Amino acid sequence: MAKVRLEHIWKRFGKVVAVRDFNLETEDGEFVVFVGPSGCGKTTTLRMIAGLEEVSEGGIFIGDRLVNDVPPKDRDIAMVFQNYALYPHMNVYENMAFGLRLRRVPREEIDRRVKEAARILKIEHLLNRKPRELSGGQRQRVAMGRAIVREPQVFLMDEPLSNLDAKLRVEMRAEIAKLQRRLGVTTIYVTHDQVEAMTLGHRIVVMKDGEIQQVDNPLNLYDFPANRFVAGFIGSPAMNFLKARVEIQGDALYLAHPAFRIQANAVLAGPLRAYAGKEVWMGIRPEHMGLKGFTVIPEGENILRGEVEVVEPLGAETEIHVSVADILLTAKVDGHPPVRPGEKVELLVDVERLHAFDPETDRTIGHALSRERVAAR
Ligand code: ATP
Repeated sequence: MAKVRLEHIWKRFGKVVAVRDFNLETEDGEFVVFVGPSGCGKTTTLRMIAGLEEVSEGGIFIGDRLVNDVPPKDRDIAMVFQNYALYPHMNVYENMAFGLRLRRVPREEIDRRVKEAARILKIEHLLNRKPRELSGGQRQRVAMGRAIVREPQVFLMDEPLSNLDAKLRVEMRAEIAKLQRRLGVTTIYVTHDQVEAMTLGHRIVVMKDGEIQQVDNPLNLYDFPANRFVAGFIGSPAMNFLKARVEIQGDALYLAHPAFRIQANAVLAGPLRAYAGKEVWMGIRPEHMGLKGFTVIPEGENILRGEVEVVEPLGAETEIHVSVADILLTAKVDGHPPVRPGEKVELLVDVERLHAFDPETDRTIGHALSRERVAAR
């Protein structure tokens, strides 16, 4: 096990800056996930840690060792890729043993490690099969097994589940989480899927355009996003954003628009006072709105009036798309409220869960939820 430290890492491909001043230190045994949209630099960063890509600037440390000039095979890491990269002519046992043979690990030691990994991954009965005789999930397990037998200091995983169907992906996700806890090996995992990131990561690094946007644990990212990008990227369906003007009347602070007026709670009103008379982005998650008459959210100065466009029943919940003054909002509500497209409805906003963002920088101005309240729950 080892910490991984990236200090002021830059990567340039000619004029393209793929990674910009990336700083991170993992804990020993931590599961860190890099997440972000396509092209944001996740894979490039992972490949620099692996030694498959040169660093343009900055230092990469594994344990206390600066590894910038250490070849990949000497970095004591094991990678799992999206395409598994199994050798088709070798059986499962040979695929798992191959890397150790190249390193001249004694035969009995190889046998011990392969059998132990096969036991952990429940693929002991497949050891004599060739990759073409395996299902996608089984191949994925073999690729994991090949990494495990190396007993590396760090696992690097690049979208290892993206070739699997949705059900298998959820199963394998749980297995990877369990395996990582059991082995306690520092793991860096790349994905563009925010649900995968939220369920796997102890900490998540959210990236955009080669830059880190925020590093935090999953719930803090959800409750306290640092900017509008993170707010919109983490959470599904995505957070709704509405432009509103900050109005102050006595002690009360309102987010006002010709079509609605929402009173901010005291926690959010604090930082919003500096924006009196200005427009800001108001953010509210779909699950923090309810339909009047079908929600426990109390009514006050928190009503959005609109017309239902689409109703999507999901089983336990329903997603309702409502246009409010030409802005299409999504509300996710419990059960099956009896509403139909074309109907006029009133949405109640949970003002304890509002967010506000600066319209010029997109940085967070404030959250209605206080950190003290979260600490107490
Ligand atoms: P994806 O999820 O699509 O794999 P990513 O976040 O992993 O995306 P990277 O593959 O790291 O993104 O790419 C980051 C940026 O660097 C992109 O703009 C990409 O076009 C560019 N890039 C990556 N590899 C090279 C290369 N070998 N030469 C030139 N540009 C590259």
